[in-house]
Amino acid sequence: MSFEKLKVIILTHQDIDHIGSIPEILQECGSKIKVYAHDLDKPYIQGELSLLKDGHLETPPKGKVDETLKDGQELPYCGGIRIIHTPGHTPGHISLYLKQSKTLIAGDSMYSENGIIKGIHVPTVLDIKEARLSLKKYLDLEIESVVCYHGGLSKVNIHDQIQKVVSC
Ligand SMILES: [Zn+2]
Repeated sequence: MSFEKLKVIILTHQDIDHIGSIPEILQECGSKIKVYAHDLDKPYIQGELSLLKDGHLETPPKGKVDETLKDGQELPYCGGIRIIHTPGHTPGHISLYLKQSKTLIAGDSMYSENGIIKGIHVPTVLDIKEARLSLKKYLDLEIESVVCYHGGLSKVNIHDQIQKVVSC
């Protein structure tokens, strides 16, 4: 695959499986790609602080963040993307709401299995209280589909499914 068409990367948070190969990709086609992330996770992504969950790595990734994102901010891609700050899994975790397709990119704020939203993944959460409050933010949105990084796509009765995981 060519990275020629890649213009923007939005990182939901600092975990290593989300930073992925960004340092290598940027080395290849650096200045053409703009990287976004939340302010609170930026220093970890840039390698200025040890990753909160993968601090043991001998060579932590050194990415770069060009622009930081705030709760409620909108980006002009894909018909408009609203940024939702959803801390808990990490302090700077964000979720993305794609307005046109009513799709929620939930990152690791929740996980799913076979299209069923299972809620917060407790073993990898840093602040469970915050994580619960974050999920409540989704109830205000009209969501048709959710993409969890771990578990993939859910498309049925999203509001009810989220209501269920928020109340338990
Ligand atoms: Zn994660």
